[in-house]
Amino acid sequence: MNFKRMVIVGGGTAGWMAAAALSKTFGNKLQIELIESETIGTVGVGEATIPAIKNFHELLELPEAEFIAAVHGTYKLGIEFENWGKLGDRYFHPFGPPGADSWAAQFHHYWVRAAQRGAAREFGEYSVEASLAHAGRFGFNGDRKPNYAYHFDAGRYATMLRAYSEARGVQRREGLVTGVQRHPESGFIEAVILESGQIVAGDFFIDCTGFRGLLIEQELQAGWEDWSHWLKSDSAVAVQTESVSPPVPYTRCTARSAGWQWKIPLQHRVGNGLVYCSDYIEADEARQQLLANLEGEPLTEPRLLRFRTGRRKRQWVGNCLALGLSSGFLEPLESTSIHLIQNSIIRFIKLFPAEAICPVEIEQFNREVRLEMEQIRDFIILHYHVNQRSDAPYWVSNREMEIPDSLRHKIELFEASGRVFRELGELFAEQSWVAVMLGQGIRPRGYHPIVDQATEEELVAFLQGVRRSIDSIVGSQPGHEAFLQQLQQGVASRQA
Ligand code: FAD
Repeated sequence: MNFKRMVIVGGGTAGWMAAAALSKTFGNKLQIELIESETIGTVGVGEATIPAIKNFHELLELPEAEFIAAVHGTYKLGIEFENWGKLGDRYFHPFGPPGADSWAAQFHHYWVRAAQRGAAREFGEYSVEASLAHAGRFGFNGDRKPNYAYHFDAGRYATMLRAYSEARGVQRREGLVTGVQRHPESGFIEAVILESGQIVAGDFFIDCTGFRGLLIEQELQAGWEDWSHWLKSDSAVAVQTESVSPPVPYTRCTARSAGWQWKIPLQHRVGNGLVYCSDYIEADEARQQLLANLEGEPLTEPRLLRFRTGRRKRQWVGNCLALGLSSGFLEPLESTSIHLIQNSIIRFIKLFPAEAICPVEIEQFNREVRLEMEQIRDFIILHYHVNQRSDAPYWVSNREMEIPDSLRHKIELFEASGRVFRELGELFAEQSWVAVMLGQGIRPRGYHPIVDQATEEELVAFLQGVRRSIDSIVGSQPGHEAFLQQLQQGVASRQA
């Protein structure tokens, strides 16, 4: 292997995830150094995840209970959206599939027929994950295990990954990178220069410097594709509060006048924030709106964050790869940023250069990232665009904006016949699109003809059967908090 010295610049979630995965995969074949600057600090948010994070932890061989204990984590079964389609609306985007499918038609086709005849309950009531979430329960009893992800403390997550990486030989260096040395012909980065004058040389560089994109943009000018005409939010104000009730096993996303508010329950506190568009609300008003809608006492001063939605045109340039916020940003509505970091790390390991950097491999990498980000972008735009709200200009403008053709096609297909197809390699499965499209108020005009093979009575009995089985699954699980306590006790007794 010609690439022996890897330099990671940045020690936020992205930097330490990369250090952990690379040190685990390559062991002492790769010399890894991570440079971070305490004077700059990390973005400090990013606490909700999606189920695929479990694959990353499997790669690291991190035991779940120990991980949850280290990051003061909780379980997440999905997201509850409030006020999105209309003020007063509420729906759940669960991580698992609803009801039971036949091979030709998914469950929602049966639900659509029943709903057209007034014989169905709310769609979310046919989801195991949504029902568990609303009952405040979580557990693994029985055959039908829930699909889940985690909420965690971002600072503790980075600390845990740092300890993991340092135990596998990663060297951490404190310092501010102020310059870059490049090869005069190839343009490859040869070294970074610190404020102290130290020079850190490497064969490959990973830019995890956050929004500033120190190497990938300031030095290599990879270019930026702006998506803020579709995803208008450009700011967030975040605050932590004390817990006033047991942690629920789901994230809450409540639409407000010019954005939306998140609520992420951890074991020891709650993470809150308002994501908003500064064209429609001033920073001070946004701060007031957030503070007026908190449940517990604030533990921190509200913190303002500014961002741009879009992607780096090339995430990998020469011998430099951008990960995390330096590679692009999609707002946190569906908690996809940490997932994008994880996928880019795994993709990079799969394409890790053997003897020399190969342009066609770089092209493959950049192409996959572009497609992945565009698919997620469309899914997030869906939430904004399909609304019937007329109470605030922000929502009207989201409804009236032009949307990407790829998204328009998906919405039109679903409106016509309830059909949804997952694109090749797409992160969000059909069930996610269905949950959000129904939740935002789309009612398909048709459904799959196979559904009509059932008589009216059979259809009603089928739906009742699904409900009964969900009730029994929910009834057999402990409360979420009790489950976490049990997990903690197990960890404590193993450590004793
Ligand atoms: P940062 O955390 O900004 O880290 C940058 C690092 O680079 C720091 O260590 C800094 O010291 C270092 N650095 C910068 N410049 C230099 C320099 N010159 N020299 C040396 N070191 C330098 N993602 C999710 O998956 N789920 C969520 O719920 C979620 N919520 C979010 C909410 C908001 C409001 C925002 C803005 C983002 C959210 N994200 C979420 C995204 C998530 O926070 C990030 O993807 C994640 O934290 C990774 O950040 P990072 O490591 O790329 O950058």
